[in-house]
Amino acid sequence: AKRDGRGVFRFFEPALDAAARKRRQLELDLREAIQTGQFRLNFQPVFNLKENRIAGFEALLRWNHPTRGEVGPTEFIPVAEETGMIVAIGEWVMQEACRQAAAWPEDVRVAVNVSPLQFRNLRFKAVILQALAHSGLAPHRLEVEITETVFLDGEDHVLDLLHGLREIGVRVALDDFGTGYSSLSYLRSFPFDKIKIDRSFITGVATDDGAAAIVRAIVDLAGALHMETTAEGVEDGDQLALLRGQGCGNIQGYFFSRPVEGAGVAALLSTVFAQ
Ligand code: C2E
Ligand code: CA
Ligand code: CA
Ligand code: CA
Repeated sequence: AKRDGRGVFRFFEPALDAAARKRRQLELDLREAIQTGQFRLNFQPVFNLKENRIAGFEALLRWNHPTRGEVGPTEFIPVAEETGMIVAIGEWVMQEACRQAAAWPEDVRVAVNVSPLQFRNLRFKAVILQALAHSGLAPHRLEVEITETVFLDGEDHVLDLLHGLREIGVRVALDDFGTGYSSLSYLRSFPFDKIKIDRSFITGVATDDGAAAIVRAIVDLAGALHMETTAEGVEDGDQLALLRGQGCGNIQGYFFSRPVEGAGVAALLSTVFAQ
C-alpha cells in the first residue's frame, strides 16, 4: 500500500504495478531511441506473380534496444501511438525508406506503413513531400500503407488527405484488408491502388474452403475496382499455388522471403526467379 498526498491509502495489485512500471520504462526507452537513433528498417519483398519479379519492398521498422536487444514493432508501436511519439518515428521511417529506395532500380517501389495518428498529423503531407525532395525518389515509387482505422477520424478529412497524396502521385494501399468492420464501404469511398489481403485469410487459403472463398471474392472484387492485390503472410507453396490460381497479383511472406536488412535488397533483386 502507498500513502498518497491526502493521507489516503492506495492499494496496488503487484502485477499491475509491475506492468505499469514496464510500460513507463518502455516509454522512456523509446524517447531515448528516437534521440540516439536506435531504429533501422528491414525490407520485405513483394513478388509480382504475373511479371515474375520483385515489384517492391515493404519497409518494416526494427528497434535494437541497448539492453533488451530486438524489440518487435507489435510491442512498441502501440506505445509510440498512445504517446504521440509515432509522429517523430514515422517521419524518420518515411525519410529513411525514401532515401534507401532512391538507390534501387527505378521499377522497384517502397511501401511505408503509416499509423492513424501520423496520418492525421497536419504536417503529414509536408513530411512526404520533403522525403521525396530530399531523396529524389519519384512519387509513383512510394506506396503508403494505411489501415481502415484511419477512417474512424471522420471520413471527409481522410478522403481529402488521400486525394492530396494521389495528386502528388504517391500510391495508396489498404493494409490488413478484411479484418475491420466495414472494409467494403471504404473501398467505395476511395480508389486505392492496392488491397493487401490480411494474413489471417491466407493462413487457411489452401486448407479451409471458407478462407479460400473469401480470398477469391476479395481478388475478384479488387479486379472489378481496378485495384491490385497482395496476399500477406504466404508461408508455403500450397498457398502460393492457390493464390496464383485465383489470380492474386502479388505475394508477400516468409515463403518467398523474410524481411531483410537494407544491404540484402540488392542480392534479392539480382536473383533470377524460375517461372
Ligand atoms: P503489417 O504492416 O501487417 O506487416 C506485416 C508483418 O507480417 C510484419 O511483421 C512481417 O514481418 C510479418 N510477416 C511477413 N511475412 C510473414 C509470414 O509469412 N508469416 C508471418 N507469420 N508473418 C509475416 P512486423 O515487422 O513484426 O510488423 C508488425 C506490424 O507492425 C506491421 O504489420 C505494422 O502494422 C507495424 N509496423 C511495422 N513497421 C512499421 C512502421 O514503420 N510504421 C508503422 N506505423 N507501423 C509499422
Ligand atoms: Ca503493412
Ligand atoms: Ca498488413
Ligand atoms: Ca497486420
